[in-house]
Amino acid sequence: MSAELTDRLKAEARRLGFDQVGVAPAVSPPSYPRFLSWLDAGNAAGMAYLAKRAEARAHPDSLLAGIQSVVMVSFVYGRPESAEAPGPTQAKVARYARGADYHDVLWRRLERLLEWLQVECPGSRGRAVADTAPLLERDFARLAGLGWVGKNTMLIDRRLGSYTLLGALLVDVSLQPDPPHLTSHCGTCTRCLDACPTDAFTGPYQLDSRRCLSYWTIEHKGPIDEEFADKLDGWVFGCDVCQDVCPWNRKAPPGREPALAPRAEWTNPDILAWLSRDAASLTRALKGTALARAKRAGLLRNAALILGTRRERDAVPALANCLDDADPGVRAAAAWALGRIGSNDALTALRIHAGDPEPRVSAAIARALARPTPRGPFSGA
Ligand code: SF4
Ligand code: SF4
Repeated sequence: MSAELTDRLKAEARRLGFDQVGVAPAVSPPSYPRFLSWLDAGNAAGMAYLAKRAEARAHPDSLLAGIQSVVMVSFVYGRPESAEAPGPTQAKVARYARGADYHDVLWRRLERLLEWLQVECPGSRGRAVADTAPLLERDFARLAGLGWVGKNTMLIDRRLGSYTLLGALLVDVSLQPDPPHLTSHCGTCTRCLDACPTDAFTGPYQLDSRRCLSYWTIEHKGPIDEEFADKLDGWVFGCDVCQDVCPWNRKAPPGREPALAPRAEWTNPDILAWLSRDAASLTRALKGTALARAKRAGLLRNAALILGTRRERDAVPALANCLDDADPGVRAAAAWALGRIGSNDALTALRIHAGDPEPRVSAAIARALARPTPRGPFSGA
């Protein structure tokens, strides 16, 4: 175990642009039993891949034989200002997705750190992990002294806050571990739990993905339950509410990595323009962004639902065109939205498409036509 090598590795990680770096021993993560109980209770919702590879999270040697140390790094992302108050046809995107795809940025830097280590320790082996392998990253970040896991289940660093991306470099070199972060600094605060628009926290540190907008808008395939569609509140990809309210993010520094800097087109995107854009061009535009995870179909589904909840009449022609989309999920969401808008042109478009060959779409159209126009600021004339 070399303290001197560890110090130089940390200096190299900082030189590569990481904002924080620490070393954890390669042990079974303490929260693994809790992770299994969380899975057993169905909290992973439709993310079947978590259960499928659950055993691999029991120990990082499932990812690298002979592993000795886990080097945890973090990158601050985004800017302090949030993307609130979008215009009537604009939507909100989670901060981490407003720039380039963070996976590539993190992974490339970790690979460079590994190359450095392999020059220092010829014959050593390692593996870069950037949210792509079964590793309980937050647990290892805590073990590496990077912060504590807050009641909102995010890793929080006293100085950097929680808008950080975590990466890991697994190595078969014995490095000097850092002291684990054993304390929590949430105190009596419950802001994140209180602010969640969908009551997704069943208690402190307990997140039920079945109620989380990040799950519904990013991971979930197929129609979104009406209860949650109604609560999207403009979030077309992810949700930052439980981080935005956290006091530890008030004075957090902005991200320094240019590739992750927010881009105008992904910060408050015009979702009506998305609906009107041809499929190939939107798919192309999403390439290299984190939004690509939801795919065009997921994003258009979310966009249609948001415009429906806002009863945005200007969106009727584009939503009507979506009733001819190749993707049945997009057609069903457009039907829901048109039913919500309930104007004559919206209902006409629904009637024309009542015979949709896909049963779940024709059922969505029937429900939209059967539902009386909701009361509210828009009369649906
Ligand atoms: S991301 Fe949004 S919906 Fe999910 S737990 Fe946080 S506040 Fe709730
Ligand atoms: S909002 Fe409060 S309770 Fe929630 S993570 Fe931040 S400090 Fe902890």
